[in-house]
Amino acid sequence: MGGLETERVVVGWAARDPSGILSPYTYTLRNTGPEDVLLKVLSCGICHTDIHQVKNELGMSRYPMVPGHEVVGEVVEVGSEVTNFRVGDVVGVGVIVGCCRNCNPCKSDVEQYCNKKIWSYNDVYTDGKTTQGGFAQSMIVDQKFVVKIPDGMSAEQAAPLLCAGLTVYSPLSHFGLNKSGLRGGILGLGGVGHMGVKIAKAMGHHVTVISSSDKKRAEAMEHLGADEYLVSSDATRMQEFADTLDYIIDTVPAVHALEPYLSLLKLDGRLILMGVINAPLQFLTPLVMLGAIKNIGVKPIFLVFFFFFVGRKSITGSFIGSMKETEEMLEFCKEKGITSMIEVVKMDYVNKALERLEKNDVRYRFVVDVAGSKLEP
Ligand code: NAP
Repeated sequence: MGGLETERVVVGWAARDPSGILSPYTYTLRNTGPEDVLLKVLSCGICHTDIHQVKNELGMSRYPMVPGHEVVGEVVEVGSEVTNFRVGDVVGVGVIVGCCRNCNPCKSDVEQYCNKKIWSYNDVYTDGKTTQGGFAQSMIVDQKFVVKIPDGMSAEQAAPLLCAGLTVYSPLSHFGLNKSGLRGGILGLGGVGHMGVKIAKAMGHHVTVISSSDKKRAEAMEHLGADEYLVSSDATRMQEFADTLDYIIDTVPAVHALEPYLSLLKLDGRLILMGVINAPLQFLTPLVMLGAIKNIGVKPIFLVFFFFFVGRKSITGSFIGSMKETEEMLEFCKEKGITSMIEVVKMDYVNKALERLEKNDVRYRFVVDVAGSKLEP
């Protein structure tokens, strides 16, 4: 594979400032090593995290930034020590492309929690070069962070599994929630949420979607297979569902009250936070100790007059998943016939797609057909 002298010039679409508007950008890929895989990008999903990043909502963005971390590509070249992949393989790359390999998380195969992990874009690689993501012609990635896409899965269908699918699969698996018969809630029916419904259903769960509006009811029930649909502002229905759920996967990417959702959980239920929110969330502590509050007409300050349901609830969080879980999740999706529900667009539509995603106007993931797009200016 290419040595130090090789300089690969590629075109990607980059944001230049917090306006988050992407436009063609020419740059060189990092030098390659014996464990690296060079891939030609075929498809790349658009995650809400891409909006947080290109708009510098987390205050850690560096520009120019080529986003995209749900990447499916075709292997074009492999380094001399690459054992897992061959030229022509269709492979995936997700949110991280490096880790220290020595810390406890790395040694325990949960390298996504390594403090020295390297993000697939908006980060600095070990050679000091900026990492750039999948809205580009090519990427060079260490084989440890590359997975094989199962045969028969199309590139555009597979792309959202690499972040959205994994983000749901990992906590369900880690917290022992991957057994049938559970009752789960999916809060926010977007890219991550729709994969949540599909994966939870395939695990044999009774799934309740909790949405901010009634607009997605028919799709949730008829196309995604949800069992129940709640509109979060419908206090009466929310009250009816108090104390019914074993877990809720909360994908809301904005500040929101946690109390209404904590109330829905059973004893020992878990609220699993996924949304990246750059402001503090608040909740009343009795809700995790004692349980749901049935309002009998007094103000929350007089909690003693409230009836309590069961409690001992947990609020937790989870970050994507490991490479091991990525492989497991892809196998699970293949075995269960799970794919994503997507809208495929060309790169010249990417800014409109980001705008629509921000306005909650996508069913349910945009995927850019990168190989079929003109990337050059
Ligand atoms: P998305 O496609 O925009 O979906 C988010 C959903 O939340 C929307 O479809 C909407 O569902 C609801 N929602 C949106 N804005 C809201 C608001 N202001 N108030 C209440 N509900 C709102 O986003 P996504 O790609 O699924 O990502 C969701 C969040 O998870 C983002 O913050 C993203 O950065 C984060 N994320 C985290 C991880 C991780 O590893 N933890 C991985 C991937 C993504 P309804 O219409 O049903 O209300």
